[in-house]
Amino acid sequence: MREREKYICPVCGYPGLSEPAYNDYGNPSFDICVSFWYQFGKTDDDEHFTHEQWRQKWIAEGAPWRGKSKKAPSDWNPMEQLRNIGVRPH
Ligand SMILES: [Zn+2]
Repeated sequence: MREREKYICPVCGYPGLSEPAYNDYGNPSFDICVSFWYQFGKTDDDEHFTHEQWRQKWIAEGAPWRGKSKKAPSDWNPMEQLRNIGVRPH
């Protein structure tokens, strides 16, 4: 099953969210990105890092799959998914 119709994670670009990470009022969905294991509204409040900082740290670690609820798709490519949010890692 492909999950191309879902919403894109603003941190890592993974298109696997069942609803937008934040609504029009900026309120978080409390959904969890299964790729990054980032919970909108919780991870942001617990740690005081921006999405950009989380992303840079993740890329510096080699952009690993962090999900605990499911395994990475066989064709998963973290560098490709970053293009979904306009990030071009070097
Ligand atoms: Zn993500």
